[in-house]
Amino acid sequence: SKSLAAVLGIIPWIYLLFAILFAVTRSTFLICRFDPFIGIFRLGGDIGLIVFGVLLLIAAIFTGRPFCRFICPYGALLSLFARVSIWKASITPQCINCELCHNACPVDAIMTPYENKVKETRLQGVKRILLYLIFLPVMAIIGGLILQLMATSLSRVNKDVRLYDMVIQNEKEPQDMLPIDLEAFYGQGGTIEEITVRVEKIQSDFKIYSSVAGALMGLVIGFTLIGLSVKRTRKNYEINDAKCVNCAKCFSYCPQNKSLKLTRSAFIEKKENADINGGFSL
Ligand code: SF4
Ligand code: SF4
Repeated sequence: SKSLAAVLGIIPWIYLLFAILFAVTRSTFLICRFDPFIGIFRLGGDIGLIVFGVLLLIAAIFTGRPFCRFICPYGALLSLFARVSIWKASITPQCINCELCHNACPVDAIMTPYENKVKETRLQGVKRILLYLIFLPVMAIIGGLILQLMATSLSRVNKDVRLYDMVIQNEKEPQDMLPIDLEAFYGQGGTIEEITVRVEKIQSDFKIYSSVAGALMGLVIGFTLIGLSVKRTRKNYEINDAKCVNCAKCFSYCPQNKSLKLTRSAFIEKKENADINGGFSL
């Protein structure tokens, strides 16, 4: 359904924003670490990720490109730029609503005709837009606050913060057998003062960047909810630019597609000439 696809469409954005957050705080490269297909190509790796990759491949039998549509952060960026692309895919200006393209599209990127029966006055329209203008900053603030509250926990993804926790724990209850990380830390002459300064800087960075990432997540959710609530009248089947992967499958299904009609008639004409002249070349 439209709502389910919209909710699933939020996942790549959340993934992308967390990936950027952990990259700018020099904590980890999330996208490389959790690539579900890399283990398959390398014939080894995290078994959980390999199973996940295989499940995604199996899911692709039933629904088009599930990883690209519902997980891949690069897909999220592409969908953003596709909306403002100069060259957009279009099937035909003379749609007869035969639905053939809609059935053919492998990624459900064709919007069906819709008649918006709710007629609103100019004042109601202005009120609705004002409501959106209030709603979006509220969502951004809520998202920013939630992730700021989680900043300390999130900072534990950084190996220096984890090392700091181990050092503090060891100072409180000294261990006979030190883990290898602590051994390396003390072996290199590390001190609590020095690591405390480093970790304070990392945690302060996490507070700032988590707030920004949270605000952007709030905006993504806000825009998705607004997108679900806006009902625009559409007379014909239209391509959703953000979802379309330009596979061109719908073009050949459309009985109204002029360029294909021309190509077909040119092909038939060429073939007829070839039959008369006894030779055929493309
Ligand atoms: S070009 Fe491919 S992905 Fe885009 S609307 Fe047509 S069939 Fe769907
Ligand atoms: S196949 Fe062509 S005519 Fe039929 S619904 Fe799609 S765009 Fe319209």
